[in-house]
Amino acid sequence: MALSEFDIIARYFEHQRVQRSDVALGVGDDCALLRVPSGYELAVSIDTMVEGRHFPVGTAPQAIGHKALAVSLSDLAAMGGEPAWATLSLSLPTPDTGWLESFVRGLFALAGRFEVQLVGGDTVKGPLVVTTQLHGFVPEGRALRRSGASAGDAIFVTGSLGDAGLGLAIRQGLAEADGADRDYLCSRLDYPEPRVEAGRHLLGAASAAIDVSDGLLADLGHILERSGLGARLEVEKLPLSAALRGHAGEERAIGLALSSGDDYELCFTVPPDRLELIDTLPVAAARIGTVEAEAGVRLFRNGNAYRCAGRGYDHFGGPDDG
Ligand code: ADP
Ligand code: MG
Repeated sequence: MALSEFDIIARYFEHQRVQRSDVALGVGDDCALLRVPSGYELAVSIDTMVEGRHFPVGTAPQAIGHKALAVSLSDLAAMGGEPAWATLSLSLPTPDTGWLESFVRGLFALAGRFEVQLVGGDTVKGPLVVTTQLHGFVPEGRALRRSGASAGDAIFVTGSLGDAGLGLAIRQGLAEADGADRDYLCSRLDYPEPRVEAGRHLLGAASAAIDVSDGLLADLGHILERSGLGARLEVEKLPLSAALRGHAGEERAIGLALSSGDDYELCFTVPPDRLELIDTLPVAAARIGTVEAEAGVRLFRNGNAYRCAGRGYDHFGGPDDG
């Protein structure tokens, strides 16, 4: 049975628990009408996920719904923003009610947790592509930027790194894990946890921040480039989960933590006189290195130079891209 574009909108996207008072008009007209509170800047971020490229073919629709919003929430978290509104562009090959119900369940569960209201979008027939735009607020002039780091700042990362990379390898049959470890690693790939509260806490504490979507070396590299600086990293301080160590082994775990993407942790820099502000962060954060004046990233392990060939995932530089 063919659902029309209008059936889909009415059935799946018009009804949600979150109804914000700053939404004058949501889904249903030609535009949404929205009110930004005074004293705040509007922070806007958009991400597109293509099946087979940004999530494996066969990913549960609930996970696709979650992840579509999670990646945008993660961008906003990296600026220290407070989430407010989302728009969604959905390209679907065949509108299937079971697929849509599950997708919307994943999307709205996460939206509900952060009081995000879906205020509009677009629905078209085509290959499976999900684009989410998120709008949030940052106190005027205070957003965390990539460009704010200084030599001597400490480098931190939240949570743990490399789990989603191993989860992807498991899905692709390139690594093995079973039971609770497999569930954990795959859920880190499918249901990333955007570090929104941590990002807001970092306003006024961190000098620069970025979310780790393409791999630590690549994303930290963006902070360093924008700040015109370099860094040293202590690889033995990288936060690695027990599941990652257990199933990848130490060397591969370090490689994944440095280079694999999709973890959506925050990497941030903190000036020495503000370090105590990190003690009260609502999520664990590991101190992994120091910003230095000399360009480039130098890796050490227990004080000795450490060699690693990995780079972050480059969507257009991979061997399969042609
Ligand atoms: P128009 O042709 O004027 O762009 P549409 O028919 O595309 O209008 O959309 C009708 C309404 O439904 C608009 O308010 C639009 O924002 C909303 N909408 C369409 N698709 C989605 C979606 N996937 N999620 C949320 N809102 C949507
Ligand atoms: Mg439209």
